[in-house]
Amino acid sequence: MSRSDIRYWNRKAELMPREELLKGQLRDLKTTVKMALKTAFYSKRLAEAGITSPEDITSLKDLTKIPFTTKDDLRSSYPYGMLAVPKEEVIRLHASSGTTGIPTVIYHTEEDIENWTELTARSMAATGVTRADVFQNMMSYGLFTGGLGLHYGAERLGALVIPAGAGNTKRQFKLMRDFQTTVVHATPSYLLHLYSKLEEEELRVSELSLKKALAGAEPYSENIRKKIENLFGIDVYNSYGLSEMNGPGVAFECVFKSGMHVWEDAFLLEVIDPHTLKPLYDGDEGELVFTTLKRSATPLLRYRTRDLSRVFPDDCICGRVHRRIERIKGRTDDMLIINGVNIFPSQIEEVIMKMPEVGTNYQIVVEKAGALDRITVKTEVGAKIFSDDTRDLNKIKEKIKNNLRASISISPVVELHEPGMLPVSEGKAVRVIDVRPRERD
Ligand code: AMP
Ligand code: ZN
Repeated sequence: MSRSDIRYWNRKAELMPREELLKGQLRDLKTTVKMALKTAFYSKRLAEAGITSPEDITSLKDLTKIPFTTKDDLRSSYPYGMLAVPKEEVIRLHASSGTTGIPTVIYHTEEDIENWTELTARSMAATGVTRADVFQNMMSYGLFTGGLGLHYGAERLGALVIPAGAGNTKRQFKLMRDFQTTVVHATPSYLLHLYSKLEEEELRVSELSLKKALAGAEPYSENIRKKIENLFGIDVYNSYGLSEMNGPGVAFECVFKSGMHVWEDAFLLEVIDPHTLKPLYDGDEGELVFTTLKRSATPLLRYRTRDLSRVFPDDCICGRVHRRIERIKGRTDDMLIINGVNIFPSQIEEVIMKMPEVGTNYQIVVEKAGALDRITVKTEVGAKIFSDDTRDLNKIKEKIKNNLRASISISPVVELHEPGMLPVSEGKAVRVIDVRPRERD
């Protein structure tokens, strides 16, 4: 990569001096606080912290006066407790993937969608995508933000967009071949899965026109990136986002692939120690915390992502003013990401423990099956049931599977065990055994 490969989408926003960026952040933080005070949730939360007007924020340092916001706060304000504008002004909502029961919902006004679109267009342009590209979006469309998020950005760029959605490998290949797709957007595990299916489809990489993949929604290592790049002979760019901060388009790699630029004119970034909650310096690893700067419908202040990373202290060769974060190291909580879908073990527990046939103990095993994640739910059943006909056992297995699929959209392998056969730990129960390799760079 050389300087001639650098393409800016919005030179003013990407190259402004740092002082100007910080000035804009303070102005937009005040507006965000003003909007937040209109919500049922923040008017109370901020008042408790002594903030009743945007004038209580006079510098960016005052950010630390503002309490953190968590996923639980979003859940407890469901459905409309975090809405800052009249419902008539909202044109769309998204909800976090995998979370049913009480999802976390984010609302958008027309202007919010416009700002998000600009950010995703900017992100894609930073990787070199242009209007000459054919962009096949393999992320799921719907409440999950991955599909629609980059879809709008790619259209804004003027690329030819194929809204393929997730899954259906056969069709993905057909679309790729017929329309000479040059850029795809998918989870890294799906890209590996795709490669493993090439042979079955009697297809060779050389028959494809693929040049780039934008990969995100789940953690992956530098080695996985290289593997995908080598297998397909393409460039892979890391894309980071979360539905609470719109979705994709929060942080993106540029052509130099040396960390992801956080679009700091739209998101105020902090890295905190997840235990002491104190802000950390650039270079120190901690939990990412974001404040929305450009969103009216659902302003979020100091949102704790639970994602672990650090800020690179040096500047990127591309010259963008926006600081870069390292690829995500992991999460501070127990959320599992199964093929890009977020699942809390507690959600599985909730579903299976509702069933009278299921005993008291259960275990969740997550492993790799080829390129994809496989989840196995092991449960104990009552002794009486176990001595019965195996046909009954199969029925229970099916029922567990169906209930999990219906309520949290996962299709696990289900294993039934006799009472007392699953391990019981002495301290805290170990419910999840995640044996997926954690590749370190
Ligand atoms: P969701 O709100 O469903 O979009 O899920 C967002 C979460 O997915 C983030 O908080 C991260 O834990 C994870 N995630 C998204 N993009 C990446 C990425 N590029 N690398 C690692 N984890 C990611
Ligand atoms: Zn850069």
